[in-house]
Amino acid sequence: MRGGGMGFRESRRPGWLALLLLLLCGGAWAQAVPTLDLTPGTTHTPLADYTRYRHDVNASDDTASAFRRLQAGEFAPLPGGKHEFGFQQGAYWFHIGIVNHNPKELRWLLVQRYALSDYIDVYARYPDGRVVHQAGGDALPFESRSIGYRHPNFWIGLPTGERVDLLVRIQSQSSMQVPLDLYTPDAFVDLTRDAQLAIGLYYGILTALFFYNLVLWLTLRDSGYFWYLFHISAFGMVLFTLNGLGFEYLWPHSPWLADKSVPLSICLALIGMLQFARIFLELQDRWRFGNAVALALIGFFVLLGAASLELPYRVSIVIATKAVLFGVAWIAIATVVVLRRGYASAWLFLIAWAMFLLGTTTFSLVAFGILPKTFYTEYGVQMGSALEMLLLSIALGRRYSSLRQENERIINEANLRLERKVAQRTQELRGTLAQLEDAHGRLRDSSRRDGLTGLYNRTYFREAFEDLLVDSLDSGRPLSLLMIDLDHFKNINDRYGHLVGDDCLRWAAHRIGDALRPHKALLARFGGEEFIVGLPGHDLTAAAQVGEILRRQLQQEHCTVRGHQIRISASIGVHAVQSVQDPANSIDAALMAADLALYSAKAKGRDQVCTSNPAFVPM
Ligand code: GH3
Ligand code: MG
Ligand code: MG
Repeated sequence: MRGGGMGFRESRRPGWLALLLLLLCGGAWAQAVPTLDLTPGTTHTPLADYTRYRHDVNASDDTASAFRRLQAGEFAPLPGGKHEFGFQQGAYWFHIGIVNHNPKELRWLLVQRYALSDYIDVYARYPDGRVVHQAGGDALPFESRSIGYRHPNFWIGLPTGERVDLLVRIQSQSSMQVPLDLYTPDAFVDLTRDAQLAIGLYYGILTALFFYNLVLWLTLRDSGYFWYLFHISAFGMVLFTLNGLGFEYLWPHSPWLADKSVPLSICLALIGMLQFARIFLELQDRWRFGNAVALALIGFFVLLGAASLELPYRVSIVIATKAVLFGVAWIAIATVVVLRRGYASAWLFLIAWAMFLLGTTTFSLVAFGILPKTFYTEYGVQMGSALEMLLLSIALGRRYSSLRQENERIINEANLRLERKVAQRTQELRGTLAQLEDAHGRLRDSSRRDGLTGLYNRTYFREAFEDLLVDSLDSGRPLSLLMIDLDHFKNINDRYGHLVGDDCLRWAAHRIGDALRPHKALLARFGGEEFIVGLPGHDLTAAAQVGEILRRQLQQEHCTVRGHQIRISASIGVHAVQSVQDPANSIDAALMAADLALYSAKAKGRDQVCTSNPAFVPM
């Protein structure tokens, strides 16, 4: 208990005029005013019922004239027993007459349970005419208090059985509130213990929430958390100053700051609240008008906060108090609007805000005397705001997690879309590749084919026959070669023209192809009217038989073209490749051998089959 030993701040200015008047008038007036009798067992009493007051509009009275006016009956009971007068000019004088009947308690503590009064002067007048003066209020440094406590307080000596008249003069730019209480030292200790516990709990919750959300903000960098921190700090500061703790702990030597801190912290708290609400409720997207009004209010509070440093306290505090109502109401309205537009996260915000409003309303109802002052109602603002901030912290967490879920959903959706697109593109690509392959195949095929007959050409024949040759050498299976030349073809051209000649070539190609189908033969146009056939699995005998079948089929059928019936015959040379590794088995050597056999067929009179083996006897 800092300053507890300072005891009375006595002023020995005797107020001699008052003394004189008292002597003249005797105790007659004293009967007219109520007297507080402190009986044994009383340890604490509110003084409202025993208080009479007078408004000294010009603040011109001195102590003596105040006592004189008291005696003249110019003091009135508190209107309706209430001790709130609002913002007032001049000074207020309050009188309480006390007789102490408790010999065990001779020292009592007078406490003004409102922290913001600027000047408080207490005059205690004793029967012997002595007047003891003490000064307090937040216009004086904090050390001037009897006890280092957030509410102004004064030790009053109350001798047993003697009437003591207390005159309390208050002059303040803050609202005129005079909740005066009288405590025995023990009762005061009990009071401060309970109150300190409640206040400690409250600021403990706020501090925990502050650091919890500070860590979240530093980790997540979500601006919502920053404005929540701003709001919680500034609102904490409002209550800290209203409770008188700012003056006690933060600026005990600066009555100037004690004054300015109230409107300033109110403005900061409203800036924080409105900004937090804007971000949490996503007003910019969900309610543009609400957002514009909130921004205008924020601008207003910024200006008012700056101006409050210069404006008289009386002016700035009145504007701030009224604007607070509007700001708080606007947040409530915005919450309901956003909620009705289907923003589910606003529910928790609304409940949090309702807690806060409930607490604030309770506080006001107590201030106006509509609700009794109990532990719960007195600390309604603290409890409401603590719950509000706790719920807002939870709401913020939920909002963050729903934002994260939304992000995940968007990413998943995008991934899914991407996957679908990739699959579609792959499908398309596959189709294109197949087409390309097809086109490539056709191109490759057409490069292998002869344009007139559609048979393979000579180049392809060489490649394919090379493979047959290798197969034959590997497997030891026979492989034969037929060289076919149409007889006297020049004559057909000469007689019927080249177009008919072409048709005849095509006809012959088809006939040869049909006849070879059962033999898995490799057929190609070798050039001009010559054809060449690879016959895997056929030895010379089998190949010569195939050649004979071919020759006969050509010879037996007429080629019917453009109204002409043309007889076509062919000479065929047959050669069987030896299935041994030998340079003599090269494709050129084989072709040469077949060509020679063909030459013999021509030489022998055409329309016949000859083999490369002179010893071969056709069957
Ligand atoms: P031979 O019995 O000795 O084989 O007599 P030939 O007339 O068939 O032989 P020759 O080598 O003297 O002539 C081949 C003829 O085949 C010459 C040419 O007019 C004809 N010929 C070659 N290629 C084509 C073609 O693509 N179309 C047409 N219409 N005739 C062709
Ligand atoms: Mg020829
Ligand atoms: Mg010929």
